[in-house]
Amino acid sequence: MSKAAQITFKDFRTRFATEDACREYLFQDRFPEGFVCPKCGSREYYYLKTRRSCQCRHCRRQTSVTAGTVMHRTHLPLTVWFWAIYLCATDKRGISAKGLARQLEVSYESAWYLLVRIRSAMHDRDQNYLLEGIVEMDEAYLGAPKRGKKRGRGTERKKMAVAVSKDEKERPLFMRLQMIPDVTTGTLQTVINGHVKQDSTIECDGYKSYPGLEGVKVNPSKYQVGDLKWVHVAIGNFKAFLLGTYHGSCGDYQPYLDEFCFRYNRRFRPAQLFARLSRAVATSCALLN
Ligand SMILES: [Zn+2]
Repeated sequence: MSKAAQITFKDFRTRFATEDACREYLFQDRFPEGFVCPKCGSREYYYLKTRRSCQCRHCRRQTSVTAGTVMHRTHLPLTVWFWAIYLCATDKRGISAKGLARQLEVSYESAWYLLVRIRSAMHDRDQNYLLEGIVEMDEAYLGAPKRGKKRGRGTERKKMAVAVSKDEKERPLFMRLQMIPDVTTGTLQTVINGHVKQDSTIECDGYKSYPGLEGVKVNPSKYQVGDLKWVHVAIGNFKAFLLGTYHGSCGDYQPYLDEFCFRYNRRFRPAQLFARLSRAVATSCALLN
């Protein structure tokens, strides 16, 4: 993971008080080596001050710093975006749309719009990294079980795959949480292919879907105390996070999983979280709808 600047609350307030300051910062985040035309790759451009866009000298395409990112065609001021990014990055309990609306004095709809896009940027950013080495893996179930319905692997509750990589001293490094439709080998293989480097070792319980996985070594637990410790800690922490901020239950859990993972994966450098999240937003892909 690359380095990022440490920005304190005081720095933040003075540095990002104007639209121009925010735009300039986003530009540096998005084009750290200088402008590159997204259409033709040319580096030569004119800056069109009235349109606040770069025009490519070669193909004449105009590109604003927000074009093609989650901020695409936003009507909200960049200063509001920056505050939302700051609050999302620094509040480790997570911030709800209601809380954000109150703090930024924007409508609930605007706060929701911001959070959906910021979480999408978090998701995009973490897709750049794969877990590697020794990776604990398990599944967990979200939402309350319906009365009289099955618990455990056959349940109708929503399911998520949990994977945590560890260092040689068994300390947790990075985490990935993903909603899954079922716990078949095919589904777990898709999770592995998307999130874990080839030839890593998967530590798991003795469930029948794991031994069939390809591209990784599978090391089933011996059912000793402490086995799969970090996935269980992760599951407990995620459920507490969900309960504390979002009251435990929601339609689509994946954005909350992405938010939780983004912060967890950068937990050792809290002062860099704003810079990391603003970079994630500046380099994200636009939402389709
Ligand atoms: Zn061009």
